[in-house]
Amino acid sequence: MRCAVFSAKPYDIEFLSDAAKKCQHELEYFEVRLSPTSAKLAEGFEAVCAFVNDDLQRSTLQSLQRVGVKLVALRCAGFNQLDLTAARELGICVARVPAYSPHAVAEHTLALILSLNRKIHKAYQRVRENNFGLDGLMGFDLHGRTVGVIGTGTIGQNVVRILHGFGCNVLMYDVRQSDNCLALGCYCDLDRLFGESDIVTLHCPLNEATRYLINHDSIQKMKPGVMLVNTSRGGLVDTAAVINGLKTKQIGSLALDVYEEEGALFFEDLSQVIINDDVFSRLLTFPNVLITSHQAFFTEQAMHEIARVTMQSLTEFEQNQSLSNAIC
Ligand code: NAD
Repeated sequence: MRCAVFSAKPYDIEFLSDAAKKCQHELEYFEVRLSPTSAKLAEGFEAVCAFVNDDLQRSTLQSLQRVGVKLVALRCAGFNQLDLTAARELGICVARVPAYSPHAVAEHTLALILSLNRKIHKAYQRVRENNFGLDGLMGFDLHGRTVGVIGTGTIGQNVVRILHGFGCNVLMYDVRQSDNCLALGCYCDLDRLFGESDIVTLHCPLNEATRYLINHDSIQKMKPGVMLVNTSRGGLVDTAAVINGLKTKQIGSLALDVYEEEGALFFEDLSQVIINDDVFSRLLTFPNVLITSHQAFFTEQAMHEIARVTMQSLTEFEQNQSLSNAIC
């Protein structure tokens, strides 16, 4: 089956090409993001493969339909970048990779928590400059601290398990409780979670119910000096409210792997470019903010699995089988 792969980076090409060989799919790679304009490049392809910051709103889907695309294979778990209603109306099937590594994002979340708490990012620079002083590097024991985990699905459950291993008290909130977590922490309502947690970490999807879950009001409910961590989706957090929380010290530290306007920044080398996003630039000025550019998923195992499941979706579609990982 012929598939046009958008937002293709060298690492995507490496893993997807390897997986495609095993099932004879023909992939063509486009570095450009998928958008209403670039969708024309998919002419002659039955499928497109897209990533988290590709635009899959109605006008892009209409352009894809016009050039004959019948399947969108998302090589990610989240699908907030896609208009599902439009895809259904246009008769375009959509598949995703719901769980490529249960560990990759959870482990990165802990990497952020530990780095931010023990100031590893600062220590690394200091030691390289022969500054062996400890002033400003003090952290706290994770053991015995209370951590609030919002969303206990595939990733959240692994975060809970790891935190339990560290000896943390884990508070959890989810619209659907998971039996796997019951012995590792305590489910509670959001107000209690915000009020009692030393660290709040987000693992729920971005949808209309969760957009700006972290806003001025919820920040005021948190413990002064709370550490906030978001490795889920940028839109869960009102960045302006968080900047205000950092300025007033209500938020003690912030770790982000995602950012609501990341589409204009992440995955690109912009080191020679003037950044026009003043909100993001303000975030970078805080000494207690640690940001990675949507790399939590990025492990060898996850990339293998993403490529394998994406090829499986193409095969199932080509053979008229029902898609194991369809979302519409
Ligand atoms: P999942 O579907 O397994 O789990 C999501 C959980 O959130 C479910 O238990 C669900 O019941 C819960 N939930 C839904 N609505 C909620 C609400 N309003 N409040 C609280 N909980 C709610 O998904 P997952 O695989 O664990 O992934 C979680 C999120 O992580 C994804 O939606 C995606 O946005 C993000 N993600 C980020 C990266 C990265 O590289 N940074 C990689 C993969 C996924």
